[in-house]
Amino acid sequence: MDVSQTFGHITSWEASPLFTPSRKSITLPPHDQKPAATRTSGSIILADANSFFAACERVFDPTLIGVPLVVLSNNDGCVVARSAEAKPIIPMGVPWYQVREMASERGVVARSSNYELYGSLSARMMHVMHHYFEHQEVYSIDECFLHSVKPIEDILTISRSMRAAVLQGVGIPVSVGIAPTKTLAKITNHWAKHDNGFNGVCAWDQLPDDVHDEILAQTPVDDVWGVGRRLMRKLVARGILTARDLRDADPIAIRRKFSVLLQRTVLELRGIPCVEDASNALDGFRKQQILCSRMFSRPVVGHTEIRQALSVYVQNACRRLRRQGCLASTVGIFCGVSPYASTQGETSMPYATAQLESPTDDPLVLMKVINEQLVSKVNPRTHYIRAGVILSGLVESRSYHPLEGFEARRDTHNIGSILDTATARFGQYSLGLGYGGIRGSGRKNEETGADWSMRREMLSPRCTTRWDEMPVVTAK
Ligand SMILES: [Mg+2]
Repeated sequence: MDVSQTFGHITSWEASPLFTPSRKSITLPPHDQKPAATRTSGSIILADANSFFAACERVFDPTLIGVPLVVLSNNDGCVVARSAEAKPIIPMGVPWYQVREMASERGVVARSSNYELYGSLSARMMHVMHHYFEHQEVYSIDECFLHSVKPIEDILTISRSMRAAVLQGVGIPVSVGIAPTKTLAKITNHWAKHDNGFNGVCAWDQLPDDVHDEILAQTPVDDVWGVGRRLMRKLVARGILTARDLRDADPIAIRRKFSVLLQRTVLELRGIPCVEDASNALDGFRKQQILCSRMFSRPVVGHTEIRQALSVYVQNACRRLRRQGCLASTVGIFCGVSPYASTQGETSMPYATAQLESPTDDPLVLMKVINEQLVSKVNPRTHYIRAGVILSGLVESRSYHPLEGFEARRDTHNIGSILDTATARFGQYSLGLGYGGIRGSGRKNEETGADWSMRREMLSPRCTTRWDEMPVVTAK
């Protein structure tokens, strides 16, 4: 699942049309670090959760098991995830208000997206799987590539144990595809997930050649990892309709007509590994840019409320900056209008940035720069539906040693770490700077006291991250 494309507005794995994000990794909880294994040959094991968001909702609410379930985007706008039972009933991406009535008649249950819960369960799931194989690359919120040089029979046995351990320990069902390359592992995983005969674990090398051919012939070319819709049109025009057609295409001609990337895909489909690991959270991967943005529950006008929102976002961004041990050299803000508002002459405010005098991780310094240099660029009469803060030009805090007089403006009062400690103990937004500390009453409004905060009327409890939402189990 490409979360960065599906969920354009969420904080942890978000993407903005204003910049191109790199492939996202999640931050894993600290655990025994293994020495980084170098991949040479062997098998790629792709573990991918089944209907991940819906599965997360079911972990603490077993009454949802077997019920058609959908998860909605920010502000309860569109359907962004569906359980297997909901797939035949509700189309993906449909605006919720259009199908709400029909859905309730047919017993479909909806939930607001609960990113905190999904992120927490994802980290637990990755943590469990990390112990089973020599090397792990966390690829997205619900999938990771693992690697092993063990014999295939052993890998199958370990994969089955791993799958059972994730189901028992975290409550999330995962499917496992094992193949010599990542591209084939993706295809194998799809079959593991959708063909009950495999029981959730499928190994490419254990299938006969004619089944390989059959599987590739049944895979449309745009379902191949790395082939998008646009590329698909060009390939179809050349008579390449399926994964098998692409495998059998001349790699040199593909490179000449398309790109070296697609040539690698051809080779990967032939079982020759060409795609290296993009990044690995376990090897200390750090983001190059930190973005924090949200949609508002209603259009926001004027500098006061924009300032409130940016104050909340910059504190979130600073927390992530400190967590990865970095300082930011540049701070930027942006505000967006609804695409339907352009007829009224309202336009989004593109990304405005300010270069900091010296890199910093101090939320007070960053908020001061936003207030003094950037907020004035926001049109006070425009109705904005989202805003965000971007910290970039990140440098590693430990290795930043400038000349005397050019020192980094580090958070010497430790305000950031005091905020982090309070957050860990009392929950998010229990303490904050300026507007960031406003806490509303009641669960719906608790993110801040402001009524512009995101609408999530069907939000399930954040059982693993909030003390006050911990589930209560009663034995009878
Ligand atoms: Mg998945």
